[in-house]
Amino acid sequence: DETARRAEAMDRGGGDTSELRRLSHEEYLKMRAKKKVEELRDELADEERMFAGVRRTDAEEREFKRKKELYNLVHGHADRYEGAAGDYYRMPDAYDDAMNVDQGKRFSVVTRRHDDDARGSKGKKAFSEQESWEEQQIRKSQLQFGAQDRTHASDEYQFVFEDAVEFVKSAAMAGTDLDDGETDELADEIKVTLQRELQDQRKALPVYKFKDELLKAIAEHQIIIVVGETGSGKTTQIPQYLHEAGYTSNGRRIACTQPRRVAAMSVAARVAEEMGVKLGHEVGYAIRFEDCTSDRTVAKYMTDGMLLREFLGEPDLSSYGVVVVDEAHERSISTDILLGLVKDVARFRPDLKLLISSATLNAERFSDFFDMAPVFKIPGRRYTVDIHYTVAPEADYVDAAVATVLQLHVTQPSPGDILVFLTGQEEIETVEEILRRRTRGLGTKIAELVICPIYANLPTELQAKIFEPAPPGARKVVLATNIAETSLTIDGISYVVDPGFCKVKSYSPRTGTESLLVQPISKASADQRAGRSGRTGPGKCFRLFTEHSYAKEMEDETVPEIQRSNLASVVLSLKALGINDLVSFDFMDPPASEGLLRALEDLFALGALNSRGELTKTGRRMAELPLDPMLAKAIVASEKYGCSEEMITIASMLSAGNAVFYRPKDKALIADAARQRFFNAGGGGDHVALLNVYTEWEQSGHSAQWCVDHFVQSRTMRRARDVREQLVALLERVEIERRSSAGDLDAVRKAITAGFFRNAAQRRRDGSYRTVKSWRTVFVHPSSGMARVDPPPRWVLYHELVETTREYMRQVTELKPGWLLEIAPHYYQENN
Ligand code: ADP
Ligand code: MG
Repeated sequence: DETARRAEAMDRGGGDTSELRRLSHEEYLKMRAKKKVEELRDELADEERMFAGVRRTDAEEREFKRKKELYNLVHGHADRYEGAAGDYYRMPDAYDDAMNVDQGKRFSVVTRRHDDDARGSKGKKAFSEQESWEEQQIRKSQLQFGAQDRTHASDEYQFVFEDAVEFVKSAAMAGTDLDDGETDELADEIKVTLQRELQDQRKALPVYKFKDELLKAIAEHQIIIVVGETGSGKTTQIPQYLHEAGYTSNGRRIACTQPRRVAAMSVAARVAEEMGVKLGHEVGYAIRFEDCTSDRTVAKYMTDGMLLREFLGEPDLSSYGVVVVDEAHERSISTDILLGLVKDVARFRPDLKLLISSATLNAERFSDFFDMAPVFKIPGRRYTVDIHYTVAPEADYVDAAVATVLQLHVTQPSPGDILVFLTGQEEIETVEEILRRRTRGLGTKIAELVICPIYANLPTELQAKIFEPAPPGARKVVLATNIAETSLTIDGISYVVDPGFCKVKSYSPRTGTESLLVQPISKASADQRAGRSGRTGPGKCFRLFTEHSYAKEMEDETVPEIQRSNLASVVLSLKALGINDLVSFDFMDPPASEGLLRALEDLFALGALNSRGELTKTGRRMAELPLDPMLAKAIVASEKYGCSEEMITIASMLSAGNAVFYRPKDKALIADAARQRFFNAGGGGDHVALLNVYTEWEQSGHSAQWCVDHFVQSRTMRRARDVREQLVALLERVEIERRSSAGDLDAVRKAITAGFFRNAAQRRRDGSYRTVKSWRTVFVHPSSGMARVDPPPRWVLYHELVETTREYMRQVTELKPGWLLEIAPHYYQENN
C-alpha cells in the first residue's frame, strides 16, 4: 500500500520537488524527443535561408522539396507532443501580467485555432505567438548565416538527411496524416538515438577508463576514498558500475549521499535516464519530506540528512550493501556525522562496502580518518585556466558581475558558456532581470544570451534546463549558487565569473543565534570555481576581487559546517541513536565544546533532555519529526493545547520555503494588500497568517486560480500540502491525536511559544526590538505583516533572524505578557 500511496501522490501532481515524480520516464523522453524535433526544425530553417536567392539545380530542388516534406512531417509530430505536454510548453506570452494563462494562447489548442482559421481568413496565420516565435527562429538563422561556414552547414544538412530517409518512408506510405502507430514508431526511433548518445557520453567520462581497476579495488578493500575532479563521473557512474558488477544482486541497495537536495534529485534523474528506467523505480531519490523510491530501487540517491535519519530506524544500515558518501569534501554537518557513524558500522558489518568520494585532492584527511584506507585517484583532465583579477576592489559585485557577463558575451568567441557564482535566489533573480533588460534593447545587434538560473528552490522542470546546450549561435549564462562549485557539473562552460562570496550559516554559541551571512569564500573554493571553466577546453576565470585579497585576506579552507552551526538538531539525533557520550564520538573535526554544551542546554530547555542529559519522552517524539527542534517541540506541545491540526499546517508552511507570496512589480500595492489581508484576518502574527492562507486555499479546493487571485505561489502551496501529509503520518507515529482548536488562536500561539520561547523580543522606544536573553537589537522584517501594525506590540517572538543591512526577524507573532513565564518558567524565571 506504500506503492499505492505513492502512486496516488503522483497522480495528484505536486509541488516543485514532486514534478519529477509526476513526469513519467516516458513523458520525459517525449519531452526530449520534442526538443530534438525543435532542433531539426531550426536546422531546416537554416537550410531554407541558405538556399534563398541561390539558383538551385533540379537535384537540389528535389532535395529541397523532400526536406520540406520532412519539415512538415516533423512539425506535425512536434504538435502532437505540444498537445500532450501542454503544461510544460506554454509560450511565454500566454501569461498576462498576473500570471494568468490565456487559454487561447496555449499551444495545446492551436489545432482548434487552425480550424477556425481555415473557415475564416483564408489560411492567414492567426496565432501570433507562433508567428513571432517563427520569426525569431528565422532571425536567429540569419544571424548565423553570416557566421557559419558552409561546409559545416552542409554537414549538418547531411545529418538531417540521414534521419530523413526513415522519416520520408513513413510519409510516403500515408501521404496524409500519420496514424498513431506510425508516429509512435517515429518517437521510438528518436528515443533509441537519444539512448545511444547517452551511452556514448558515459564512455567519454574520465572514470570510464578506470572502471575495472576501481571495481577491483572495491572488491579488495572495504573502504575506499575516491578522488576525482568534478565532472569525472563519480556520482553518476560509480553506483551504476557497482550495480552492473552485482553489488545489488543480494537484494541490498546502494546509497549515494549528497549534501544538497537539488543535486540528489537531478543526479538521480540523470542516472535513471542513462539506465533507461523510470525515476523512482530502479533509480530513485529521497530527500526530506519526499521519498521517490520503490521496492525495486537499487540505487538510491539521498541527502546526507536522510541517511542520518534512516540510522534511527536501522542502526546497522542492513538494507544497504554499499554506501557512497559523496561530496565528502563539502563537510556538511550531516556528512561529518555520517562519516563517524558509517565508520562504526563498517567495523561490525564486514560485508558493507564504503566509498568516500571527494572532489578535492587533499584526500589524506579522509584516508587518515578511515584508518589509512586506500585512495583511488581518477586522473582528471583539466585544461589551463587563465585567472583574471580586478585591479581595485569592486564596490558592488552584482553590478560588476552583470558588466563582466555582457563584456564577455560580446567580446569572446562562441561557443563558450558563462558560469556566474552568486549567493542566493534573490541575487540570482536580480541579475537575471538586469541581464534581460540590458540585452533586450540590443535586439539582433548581439547574439542571443540564454539565461539559466539554478538554486535550491528552483522548480524541477527548470532545473533540467541548465544542462541543455544553448542553441547554435547563442550563448548560455548559468547563474548559480555554490551548488555549481562541485555538486553539479555543467558541460560547455568556458568562462567563470566569481564575485568571491557565498552565503554561509554562522552560529554564535554565546548568543545562541544562527544566521545566514554573505561571506568571502576560501581560496580552496575560489580555485574549485575557477576550475569549472577548464573542463572541455582552456578556460578563463574572472575574479571580481583583487589578487591581494586572494593572497592575503581569504582563508585557505572553508571551516566545516559542524564548527559553525547550531548543534541542537544533531545532538538530538545522536541522543536518539543512543549515543550519549558526545565527547568521545568519533568526529573528523570535533565541534567546539562550547557549541555542544549550548546544544545540550537548548535541548534541556525544550524538555527534550532531562538533567542527566538523557532523552525524555518529549525528546524521543521530537527526534521523530524531521524538523528543527524548536518547531518539533511546538508540534509536540500542540497536543497539550489541542491544536495539532493548526500547528502542523503552520509547520508545513514554514517548511515549504520562504516564497509563499509573490509581488509583481507593476502590481506591488495590490499584492501587498492581498497579503496583509491574511495577517489582518486575526491571529496576532505571521504564523497564523500562514495558517489563514492555507485554510483558504484548502477551502478553494486547492485552486490554482485562487493562488493567482491572492498573489500566492501555488507551487509553494502544493509543497506545503505534501509536507503536511507527511507530518500527519508522523503525528500518528508519535501518537499525537489530530485535534483542532476550532478558532482558539491563543492556543495556537501558545504551542508556538512552547517551541520558540527563546526567540522572544521586547520593543524599545525607538521602535526596534531587543531579544530577551541575548540582548541583540533586531527589527521586524519589512515582509512581515507586523511591519504594518501601529503601534507595534510590546512583546513578539520570531521564527528566524536574517541579517542583511540590519538584523531582521522573519515570521513575527505577538506574545501576551505572562506567556513566557507560564510556558517556559525554567528558562525565564531567573531573568525576572
Ligand atoms: P562528478 O560526480 O565526478 O562530479 P558527475 O557524475 O556528477 O561527475 O557528472 C558526470 C557527467 O554527467 C557530467 O558531464 C555532467 O555534465 C553530466 N550530468 C550530470 N547530471 C546531469 C543531468 N542532470 N543532466 C545532464 N547531464 C548531467
Ligand atoms: Mg559528484
